[in-house]
Amino acid sequence: MKISDILRSKGSAVITVHPDAPIEEALRTLVEHDIGALVVADGTIQGIFTERDVLRAAATDVHRLANAQVRDLMTADVVTATPDHDIQHVMDVMTSRRIRHLPVLAGDVVCGMISMRDVINALRQSAQTENQQLHAYITGTPL
Ligand code: AMP
Repeated sequence: MKISDILRSKGSAVITVHPDAPIEEALRTLVEHDIGALVVADGTIQGIFTERDVLRAAATDVHRLANAQVRDLMTADVVTATPDHDIQHVMDVMTSRRIRHLPVLAGDVVCGMISMRDVINALRQSAQTENQQLHAYITGTPL
């Protein structure tokens, strides 16, 4: 299974925030969309900002958190994937880099976002389909 397969059912919407935006705006956006990460962009991708960055900043200096801009807390060195990468690659990268989100780039254009939740959901669906096919094969019943 490839990233493009996941994006086909999930869609290619990517929620972004400007690097100069106040943290309050980023937090509101995370909560409104019920997501854990934002791509930071000002036309081109500048970083990624996740709930983990909020937690880290709050634990370090909660007053600085309140007055920060997104660029102060984001990770600028973004690990990305392409639509052609397979799900095994995504799992390997997420595990080895200890990240749960991968922006997907087609050339310079962000064309999707894959989260660990998307990976789990895709694996769950594929296991379900395989079970149904095996059951149909063993019992000789049509799908
Ligand atoms: P996460 O587990 O995705 O919430 O992110 C954990 C940490 O890794 C946070 O500091 C994020 O900013 C950073 N991070 C998450 N995804 C990526 C990514 N694709 N590339 C680089 N850093 C990331």
